[in-house]
Amino acid sequence: MTRPILAQINLAALRANLQVARERAPGAQVLAVVKANAYGHGLMRVLPALADADGLALLELDAAVALREHHYARRILLLEGFFGTGELPEIAARRLAVVVHHSEQVRMLETTSLARPLEVFIKVNTGMNRLGFKPDQVHDIAERLSRASSVAALRLMTHLARADEDDGVQEQLQAFEHACSGLSYPRSVANSAGVIKFATVGGDYVRPGIMLYGSSPFPYDTADMLGLKAVMTLRSELIAVQDLKANDSVGYGGGYTAARAHRVGVIACGYADGYSRHAPNGTPVLVCGKKVRTAGRVSMDLMTVDLSEVPEAGIGSPAVLWGEGLSVDDVAAAASTVGYELLCAVTTRVPFVTTEVGSVDIEL
Ligand SMILES: *Cc1c(COP(=O)(O)O)cnc(C)c1O
Repeated sequence: MTRPILAQINLAALRANLQVARERAPGAQVLAVVKANAYGHGLMRVLPALADADGLALLELDAAVALREHHYARRILLLEGFFGTGELPEIAARRLAVVVHHSEQVRMLETTSLARPLEVFIKVNTGMNRLGFKPDQVHDIAERLSRASSVAALRLMTHLARADEDDGVQEQLQAFEHACSGLSYPRSVANSAGVIKFATVGGDYVRPGIMLYGSSPFPYDTADMLGLKAVMTLRSELIAVQDLKANDSVGYGGGYTAARAHRVGVIACGYADGYSRHAPNGTPVLVCGKKVRTAGRVSMDLMTVDLSEVPEAGIGSPAVLWGEGLSVDDVAAAASTVGYELLCAVTTRVPFVTTEVGSVDIEL
């Protein structure tokens, strides 16, 4: 027996979610976003389930190189491009496409000669105000890059700031349209929210991320409603049970005080495993398949739940922190964050297993 925490990665769910993205963006090429180690799922682990994507997008050069070393042959897009000329020979040798978002990158491309010229996505800042050229600079940048010998092909892209809101994209789309008028290069606009809500705006390449992992990009439409299946299930077990009397408190700072006598279960999972310490009392957890609530502060290695509703639970009972049966989005909402942050945060001390199907009879 080992400490019972485990992250189970369901590749069939990932394949199904990719299919949802495809169906939502007919005619577009799908670049599956796999930055941050595939949103914490493990890039190499999920790769087989992404075979049907037209390419991958991420921003870590070392991960892109590892993909090529694993003989991944389709398009790989570096979402932040390159950070210095020193990276360019490797990027060219590995046939990586790059985003170019500021003029220093343009200058580097103009002054570097490469054995193999690059596919370049010009990023337009249409209102997000993080990365990208102002709309009125785009023609000039496109013109300069089209003349650079290190550039083989140009594309135009932008990133949506509020695609989760009903009228959240109109202004940005207009700005993008204006910036790109007269330029016939292929375009890339939509993230997950854009793919789901604004199928027609996605452009020639769509860039879904979070939806592939079975989490909703929207605060109101659940993953279930969108037909998305959880890919990661974070599982553990009860390793202790305590009987509380009325007024007994639990954990550091006495973060929870029992109003009446009841049992609490102690789960082998804490913030050093990646569970959020910001999850307050009442955050949902499944124990024996039933929804229970946290009671007491999440600590480094342990968390505690109220077992009033689960009389059958005891030491060794299974717990699901998120995933199958409990959306990561519900946990994120309780902890005032988003599913993205929770999924990315699972730490290296948690063992991962890959399954082809959603299965609950994993031997912990
Ligand atoms: C992360 C990212 C995406 C994917 O966004 P999701 O909300 O996860 O779908 C798409 N495009 C860019 C530029 C990104 O950085």
